[in-house]
Amino acid sequence: MRRTLIAGNWKMNGSLEANAILLRGLQAGAGSAEADVAVCVPAPYLAQAQVALAGTGIALGAQDVSAHASGAFTGEVAASMLQDFGCQFVIVGHSERRTYHCEDDALVGQKARAALAVGLTPIVCVGETAGQRDAGRTGEIVSAQLDAILDALESSDIGRIVVAYEPVWAIGTGKTATPEMAQEVHGLIRQRLASKNPAAAAGVQILYGGSMKPDNARELLAMPDIDGGLVGGAALKAVDFIAIIEAAG
Ligand code: PEP
Repeated sequence: MRRTLIAGNWKMNGSLEANAILLRGLQAGAGSAEADVAVCVPAPYLAQAQVALAGTGIALGAQDVSAHASGAFTGEVAASMLQDFGCQFVIVGHSERRTYHCEDDALVGQKARAALAVGLTPIVCVGETAGQRDAGRTGEIVSAQLDAILDALESSDIGRIVVAYEPVWAIGTGKTATPEMAQEVHGLIRQRLASKNPAAAAGVQILYGGSMKPDNARELLAMPDIDGGLVGGAALKAVDFIAIIEAAG
């Protein structure tokens, strides 16, 4: 039986003051959730979030990680550093990293491996663009992305990752995949995972991301292979994020 995971992605938003308000809202409302809950905060605020979330049951995550363990990589943050701040999760391969930082599947696979090497759970993002969906290429694109990333991992690691299906056209746009559209891709993702490690695939949490909101979360989360959400915009308001967590319960 897979537990539901609701993970917030704050992206490059926040300030010490705004975070304190948001974190206080989460402490008050999200602690007793039936679902697993995590927030992936900007790296400079990891220490603040670590202190605020201690003892709440809300896990901490980061939004990116270096593929390298340490050394002359100015500006990068190593997985061991995220671990020092109590992170359990790190997002890898978000479409914004792919688009604005030219990250490809091979690099995303290396980042996932670097996370796993120190015991972090990578949330591995895949998803098609609007043009690719319109051309009927969703399955082909998502399978190719996932296969290339999984090729960088040991098959025994498949059970230690989380996958997020995030159609690029749905991220931050207010457009959401219908539950049926999302389920079709989630089912395909589970098949691809099973082709690498049949025993582990059934236990992997596959999250949906793309304009998940309080008013669409319940029907998305009701689908058999949708095991949670990666939530951007709605994670910035405690009341909305908590409503999504409650929909998961
Ligand atoms: C995201 O950033 O991963 C995301 C899904 O954003 P939004 O919920 O705003 O579409």
